[in-house]
This record gives sequence, structure tokens and C-alpha cells, in this order.
Amino acid sequence: MGLLTIYQPEILESKNGFRLQASFKINGKEDTLWYEVDKQYKHCLTYERADAFLVALFLLAFKNQCDIRVEAPLSERLMYTFNTYLLPLTADVRNLKPIKIFCDFAINKPLDNLEAVGTGLSCGIDSFSTICNHLTEQCPPNYKITHFTFFNAGSNGSLGGEKARRLFKKRVEMVKPCAQELGLELITVDSNISEVLELGFYETHTYRNLSASLALQKLFKTYYYSSSYSLKHFELKPNSCGHYDFFNMNMLSTEGMSFFSACPYHTRVEKTKMVSKFKLAYKYLNVCIRDGQNCGGCEKCVRTLFTLELFGKLNEFSRIFNLQNYYRERQKYIAKILARHRSDEYMQEILEEMIKMNFKIPIYSRLASKYLKVKSVV
Ligand SMILES: [Zn+2]
Repeated sequence: MGLLTIYQPEILESKNGFRLQASFKINGKEDTLWYEVDKQYKHCLTYERADAFLVALFLLAFKNQCDIRVEAPLSERLMYTFNTYLLPLTADVRNLKPIKIFCDFAINKPLDNLEAVGTGLSCGIDSFSTICNHLTEQCPPNYKITHFTFFNAGSNGSLGGEKARRLFKKRVEMVKPCAQELGLELITVDSNISEVLELGFYETHTYRNLSASLALQKLFKTYYYSSSYSLKHFELKPNSCGHYDFFNMNMLSTEGMSFFSACPYHTRVEKTKMVSKFKLAYKYLNVCIRDGQNCGGCEKCVRTLFTLELFGKLNEFSRIFNLQNYYRERQKYIAKILARHRSDEYMQEILEEMIKMNFKIPIYSRLASKYLKVKSVV
């Protein structure tokens, strides 16, 4: 078994602001992981604990079959949850050799924070659902969102690099006016976590994003991580940590900062319905997998638009989607739902809604779905 050692985090001035960074050594080779914020958020960077670095680097330790030694103060709660639950479970689910964390500086005392409540602002369906739920009258005052975040932690390109960084900056400019209209601050965090990990985003997104949030532990007492799958689909899937985020949130919370999987009981269809009534979404919803504006024709655009159509809300979103591209793909997408709903949770949810709404299936889609089924058998 090899060893990954994490050293004391420190804050350094950089070209674009300030970086929280820590050196680490893996099997004798040294490297650095960093998180960068604008100047005005320097005081939020949490150098007093190595928590963010542990949450990011445990995946690298698994990849290289290393135990972890933390040579810096660490949340005792994290040390407990990792060694007792998260590491054994991860090893089991992903069929890897178990690893352990060692640290002589575990601390039980919570860090002082500014009692902020945060969530990511991507302007997608999950993100807007979290916002709808946590800015309403019904939300208790101490649980209302006070700050938005936007991270460069893999969602702009799993392996990072300059292309992902450019997309990150472009997307920040797109979501900024939405944060302004909601009257809340937007904190951006750039990071080299993707370059360090070299792992797929889909199977690791929770740990990457929560690691970036923990870098701001002196700001947040509560952080909502939007659920990507309904609890109805809870499953310990080896290649999808999002399927068991409800468990991850408890594992990654510290003495001073609590994570919640937001809107875990809603399906994607229910979330889309919620967002379809949120006026700000008519201007800012962005679900496209291509960079920039909503193309209207990619899988995610078509899925969202078709769901909005079921609720009679297509017009409200016509300004921010290219509907010509949507109508070109619509019937093919309905065919795919009919052919593949049994193996795709999102398609299954949409089909159930179609049945509920008594949706009239176009003949082309019926025929094309038969072709798709035959093709998948052959
Ligand atoms: Zn698109």
C-alpha cells in the first residue's frame, strides 16, 4: 500500500485574487492542489483545516491504492465518517482495495463562520429548483440562501485545462446577471482539481464540488448541493455518486458546516414543473450541453423543452431556446422515450407524465420507436 501525504494549507496571492493551496506527496511525487477566489473573499479561504483537500484527494488515493496521512489540522468528524463509513463503502461499491486516513491533528471544535447559506448557481433545472425552495416564505430565515457559488471543478470539462477554464469564465458571465437580479452575491472558485484528479466528472462530481465548498468553510454554515436523482432512485452505483448523494451529504459535513442534498424527493419532471413557474428562469434557464446559449436541439435541451411542452409552458421559454432545432428533434426524442424508458430514469419519469397528461403520441414516433427497439436487440 502506498501513501498520500497532505500538508498544511496556506493562502497565497495570485494573478486573479488569492489561492488556498496545499502541497501533497503521492508515492514520493510532489504536487499542489489549489482553489482561487477574488480578492474580497480572501477571508473565507479556510487554511485552518485540510478538510477540502482530503475530500478532493481521497479519490486520487483510491486510484493509486494509497493510505492518506494528513499533516495538518483536520475535522475530527470527517476523519470519523471517512474511516468508519465513506472509505469502506467506496471501496466496496467501486470494487477497490480499502484505504485508511491517519491524522494526529484531528479537531473537534467547529471553526467560526459567517453563517452564510450557499448553493451553486448553474441556472439549470436542479439549481433553479433548489433556489425556488430556499428563497420562499416557507423557508425558515436561517435556511434561506444568502450566497451563490460557481466552481471550476469539473462541470466545465472533466479533465480541466485552459478550454474548461475559458468555458468556466464564459458561464460565470452568463449566470452573474441572474445572481444580481436575485440580489445575492456570486462567489466564483477556480481550481486545478480536474488536472490533479484526471477522473471522470459524472462519477466524482459530489466530492469535487463539496471540496470547493469546504475551501470556504469560514463563510458557510449550510450548503445545499442540488440532487441530480430523486431519492426514489437511490442506489449505490459504482460509476454514479449522485445516486447516493443523500448519504454523501452526511459523510462530508463537518462540525461547523452542514451539507444537504436539495430537493431529493422531487423527480426531474417535478423539478421542471416547479421551474416552469419561476419567472426568472424564463430569462436565465440554461441546460444546454453545448457551450453558451441553449441550442434547442441537444439531448438536454430537447428533454427540458419536451417536459415544458407537457406543462404547456413552451412559449414562456421561447426567447432563450432555439425552438426550430427543438421541433426538428422532438418526434425522434419521443421515439427514444418509448424505446428506452426502461433503462433511463429520466425518460421513465417523462413517459409517466405523458400518460398522466393523456399525451397524443405522433405516428412517426411510434414507428421510429419500433425501429429503435429492433436496432438495440440486433
Ligand atoms: Zn442544447
